[in-house]
Amino acid sequence: MDGHTENSTIRAVQWNGNKNLKLAHINVSDLPPLKEGQVRVAPAWCGICGSDIGEWAHGPIFSVSATTVGHEMSGIIRETHPSVTSQHPNLKPGTRVAVHPIVSDGTCHRCLAHYSGGCENFSIRGIMLDGGMQELLNVEADKCFPLPDHIPLDVAALVEPVSVAWQGVKAGFKSAGVERTDRVLVLGTGPIGIATLACLKARGVDLGNVMVVGRNKARNAKALELGVKHLYDSSVCDVAATARQLFDEYGAEIVFDAVATQSTFDDGIAALRRAGTYVMYGIFHEPVTFDANQIMMRSLKIVGTICYADEDYPEVIDAMADGRISMNELKKWITGRVPLENAEEGGLKELVKNKAKHMKILIRVNELE
Ligand SMILES: [Zn+2]
Repeated sequence: MDGHTENSTIRAVQWNGNKNLKLAHINVSDLPPLKEGQVRVAPAWCGICGSDIGEWAHGPIFSVSATTVGHEMSGIIRETHPSVTSQHPNLKPGTRVAVHPIVSDGTCHRCLAHYSGGCENFSIRGIMLDGGMQELLNVEADKCFPLPDHIPLDVAALVEPVSVAWQGVKAGFKSAGVERTDRVLVLGTGPIGIATLACLKARGVDLGNVMVVGRNKARNAKALELGVKHLYDSSVCDVAATARQLFDEYGAEIVFDAVATQSTFDDGIAALRRAGTYVMYGIFHEPVTFDANQIMMRSLKIVGTICYADEDYPEVIDAMADGRISMNELKKWITGRVPLENAEEGGLKELVKNKAKHMKILIRVNELE
């Protein structure tokens, strides 16, 4: 139990300039009152994302000072605005949820098409608005997705990064215009690369046939555990030549670039067969240059996705619930669990220092499960 009352204080880990987080104490009575359509959640676990590390180490880029960190969150609803009872009867105090961190206007052309990640007035919790590393947090009820009892709250904090991959995989297959292909190249074996493999597997792709390129030994091992057989070390592999060799001389149908650098972009484009699709869903820290004639001459497609569509969260939760995405595998991704007050030292700094050792560090915000 978190047991916060109106008279108590809660803690929040906030952005506080370059390489600095602040542990703030907030009176519960000073929290903004619940607005129509909102619920108050006690977050249980909140994951640290590569983008959080980028903000901390190189920022502030998008983050707003004195805003609470964390967009990969799960938790339990503590309170609901009266309007929520009729609009979302499945959300009550005690409901266990994964919280979708995008706050959208709900009215633009993309929102009306149920793609809040493409909202013209997009903002994201944990960067621009208060996020999950806060012991009590008001969030929009329509961004709370109930969890079946057998999905634990720690695994539920991984719904967010898996949804990034889920959306990327859907976009790649849609662009490629194929229901099913194993002629797939995944660049990178970090959390998003590995999540992409899990989503491909859930879609029925035979991971024994796909090609994966990664650098980090421990992370590469995760790809092998999932059933990957064609795994190559990026420092020695001629990616395009290997892709041609593997995929009937023509190369890959779809490339997922979970690294997002000039060299992975070049490799990815070169490894594609004609009319193939390159999926861009990672954050590039430098501009890339390329020969645009390659895209025209070979009829290539480049598709970009940010975050996820509204339906990706419940789709990922369903895939976890019915075993298409293995919860046992997901559990193994969690390489660190750190109490809230130690989020900076034990979480962000640890990920910078010992990157090779980790897949995902979770911050324990409230002790709930
Ligand atoms: Zn919108």
